[in-house]
Amino acid sequence: MEDFDVIVIGAGPAGEVAAGRLAAAGLSTVIVESELAGGECSYWACMPSKALLRPVDLAGEVGRVTGLRLAGPIDAGAVLARRDAVVSQYDDAGQARWLDSAGVTLVRGAGRLAGPRRVEVTTADGGVRTLVANHAVVLATGSRSVIPPVAGLAAAGPWTNREATGARAIPERLVVIGGGVVACEMAQAMRGLGSREVTMLVRGGDLLTRMEPFAGEMVARSLADQGVDIRTHESAEKVERPEPGGEVTVRLASGGTVRADEILVAAGRRSATDDLGLASVGLPESRPVEVDDSMRATGVADGWLYAVGDVNGRALLTHMGKYQARAASDVIVARVRGEADDRPGMRDRADRAGAPQVVFTDPQVCAVGRTEAQARAEGFDVRVVEHDMEQVAGGYLLGEGYRGKAKAVVDERRRVLLGVTFVAPGAAELLHAATIAVTSEVTLDDLWHAVPSYPTVSEVWLRLLEAYGL
Ligand SMILES: Cc1cc2nc3c(=O)[nH]c(=O)nc-3n(C[C@H](O)[C@H](O)[C@H](O)COP(=O)(O)OP(=O)(O)OC[C@H]3O[C@@H](n4cnc5c(N)ncnc54)[C@H](O)[C@@H]3O)c2cc1C
Repeated sequence: MEDFDVIVIGAGPAGEVAAGRLAAAGLSTVIVESELAGGECSYWACMPSKALLRPVDLAGEVGRVTGLRLAGPIDAGAVLARRDAVVSQYDDAGQARWLDSAGVTLVRGAGRLAGPRRVEVTTADGGVRTLVANHAVVLATGSRSVIPPVAGLAAAGPWTNREATGARAIPERLVVIGGGVVACEMAQAMRGLGSREVTMLVRGGDLLTRMEPFAGEMVARSLADQGVDIRTHESAEKVERPEPGGEVTVRLASGGTVRADEILVAAGRRSATDDLGLASVGLPESRPVEVDDSMRATGVADGWLYAVGDVNGRALLTHMGKYQARAASDVIVARVRGEADDRPGMRDRADRAGAPQVVFTDPQVCAVGRTEAQARAEGFDVRVVEHDMEQVAGGYLLGEGYRGKAKAVVDERRRVLLGVTFVAPGAAELLHAATIAVTSEVTLDDLWHAVPSYPTVSEVWLRLLEAYGL
């Protein structure tokens, strides 16, 4: 039996941030990892997907400026090689070194709760190590792809985000199940990198349904212009792949069929809690771990269990998991030291305001706070202002083909922003200003004095305020 002040299970971005901060505060900290330190984000999600999308994005940018033209198609082989470099050739030695330098002990194996403050780690050789926490255990095991119960789908060896972001070659024909963020990003990446046919099967009528409706519409238009075949109100009824690695036939609910070389399932994710021993501490298995705003698991006596990142189901985004990890680790340190554990940084406030998120399609979808529909459903006195971003000098200068739209959702009672969405090429870096305004509840009258430079796309802020009547 080995004892530490804190045990973190899962070395994805959330777990690593928690462990690093706890160790920096002087607590002996161990992190348990069953695959690669760095987690889904580093090897099979954020990083490789953005490496695949970057050249496609840039090609779109080039196409919008008169006088510029790509010399030829994108060199997909070189892009995949760059992706391999971005994911450090799927080797986590660098992360392991960082953990070591941060004073965090890395134990490789699958961690499982075995009662209060106790974790059993099954190592690759089948051995079991028992770790005991003096103060806290932090769950940071992330999430996994959901494979919907479609006949023949699981047996057909579908791609999940792992195979898509880790593709060794670009498939000639790809069928994508889903219309959310991963589906849109990967459909665009594969088509842009050379897939001849990309077909999206979208159960509902729209893409990106959690965002403002115009976001899904603009992304759908861009994907269609790029040649992606989007089938809405459509789903797979049966999937057949007689030969492993051979052609896939998807029988559609509407009656037709689609044939492809690969099938990507991007139909949602679920918290990785299946084999985590939650029952041993009285929590339900196979569900997100419910937490309070200090990331402490609810319903566990003595409050020694925390959950950060995708595993708690609050916001499946790397930056939010890391934010939660900062809050949880500061709370743990304060409680160990007997200090106040309710200082402002120690509570999750950002999730409640609405987490910022960027969808890295072309155009990018950048949103923070509530959508208009959410704000109305929550009973706010809402007013909405919108502006087309190509009408701003900075947008127009980005190219004749540049199109974008901004929307702000205003709380009329307090004259503050409840939510902001930008949909435009390269808009990601605009989002943080909106995040500051929404989470800090800056009044519109104060925003008026934050003068955007000319000629930048940020002048859309001024246009939104003018549209409001300032
Ligand atoms: C294709 C794709 C693209 C994405 N792009 C973005 C993006 O651009 N920006 C963004 O913010 N988010 C993005 N996300 C979401 C982001 O990847 C997740 O929100 C993030 O990885 C969650 O971090 P985490 O630390 O909670 O979990 P993870 O990154 O999933 O890490 C969890 C770790 O825990 C380990 N683990 C699990 N169970 C055990 C166990 N029992 N014992 C030991 N170790 C265990 C796993 O091996 C893993 O290393 C994307 C997701 C996908 C699928």
